[in-house]
Amino acid sequence: MKRLGFLVFLVVFLLAFPKAGDAASSSAKIFLDGQQLNLTSGVQVANVNNNILIPIRVVSENLGFKVDWEKSSQSVTVQNSITTVKMVVGSKTADIDGSQVSMNITPVLSGKTTLVPLRFVSSQMGMDVKWNNQEKAVYLSSGSVSDPWFEGEEGSPSVEPDTESPVAPVDPVGPSVPGTPGTLATVDAISFSDNRLMIATSGNVKPNVFKLNAPDRIVIDLPNTAFSEVFGYEHTLNTQNSGELAVTDYPDVSLIRYALFSDSPSTVRVVINLTSPVEYSVSSENDGLVFIDLNAQDSEEPTPPIGTEGKKVVVIDAGHGGSAPGALSVTGKHEKALNLSIALKVEALLKKEKSIDVIMTRSDDSTLSLSDRTKIANNLKSDIFVSIHGNSNTSSSPNGTETYYTRETSTQLANIIHKHLAKATGLKDRGVKYGNLHVTRETKMPAVLLEIGFLSNSKDEAQLFNDDFQNRVAKGIVSGIKEYLKVQ
Ligand code: ZN
Repeated sequence: MKRLGFLVFLVVFLLAFPKAGDAASSSAKIFLDGQQLNLTSGVQVANVNNNILIPIRVVSENLGFKVDWEKSSQSVTVQNSITTVKMVVGSKTADIDGSQVSMNITPVLSGKTTLVPLRFVSSQMGMDVKWNNQEKAVYLSSGSVSDPWFEGEEGSPSVEPDTESPVAPVDPVGPSVPGTPGTLATVDAISFSDNRLMIATSGNVKPNVFKLNAPDRIVIDLPNTAFSEVFGYEHTLNTQNSGELAVTDYPDVSLIRYALFSDSPSTVRVVINLTSPVEYSVSSENDGLVFIDLNAQDSEEPTPPIGTEGKKVVVIDAGHGGSAPGALSVTGKHEKALNLSIALKVEALLKKEKSIDVIMTRSDDSTLSLSDRTKIANNLKSDIFVSIHGNSNTSSSPNGTETYYTRETSTQLANIIHKHLAKATGLKDRGVKYGNLHVTRETKMPAVLLEIGFLSNSKDEAQLFNDDFQNRVAKGIVSGIKEYLKVQ
């Protein structure tokens, strides 16, 4: 089964549930940590506007949270040792540990019972919530939020499911899909590097960014947006349209979460969980790209937007990363580490250049799809794109340095950069080659992919992880970039 993108998901979701208004009962089953909840007879789970609501009795008896109901104010308080969620019947605003948060559905009174939104309450209480459409079941997991991605057959991004029955294509702006008026932009990719969150969108999006404390968070709301199909393929996006991005190497950031926060108006929300309060700056000048820069705290003066003041924009792409290690060297080292190490050295050198803005597709061990990488460069309208790789062959004999390009407009960059690179590596010069590679093909600016040397060849490999060698290579790449861009 192919991982469902947002629209396909929405259709399936709409088909799976009764229409909004046919609330009263729902056949949805609820599982908690793999065990189906045995609901007391007469207790009904409801569905309103495609949200599952559960009686507060289920919240206390089955989910095990402390629940208080205050009749005079019609307010419900759900509590565990960490979090307190207060909701009022008919109000879309909830209070989470003193912070106001919007819900896309309000708690309701149904007979003598108060119903609260299952997904909202469970996720605010730290549970992971998944919807299994085939079983018409809600799966709650009380453990670590990220666990299901690594255990479930559906969640893992590396799984290529293939048996889902085809779903009729829908017009993404068609009137039959509620909450998606014709002006929706899509959120296509999210990445975090260089202490900066990048959100790629299909059009101009004016983000609404604000801080929450206890715990410290930066919340980015993207009005009139929905996740694109592409997003669903490239990122972990569960059937409740939410997911998370693991962030390592940035002490201020513990986790980044994203979700389709509201259906009406359709709003994607990205939340940066912080370990302490952090200042940030927001820029969305570049069409289709939103930056939340956490480096703002380091300097008094605001950083000018990327590529302004006559600067050339260079995107450096360290190949592979995270769960995609690339080739394995003859001594068991990962290509992703080689690529990153050289890329970071190139970045450091380019940062000294006053007339160049350098953007890294990744500057840590994050997992990034190929289309994330090209999207970053394309949305930034960067001047050049340079992808750094180590080569590999099933035979141990091939060795040397080669440079790839795909489009005609990249040949000059390829020739100039290869001239400097081959000299710097001192390895066998295998020349400039045409290759039909995603990153050099799908980018819109001159783009090259550098194969520094062969990880599968012991002579090359002995050099590749050497610091002096890498410094020399980085200098060579930068000389090529500067010659091509005519930067002094
Ligand atoms: Zn590679």
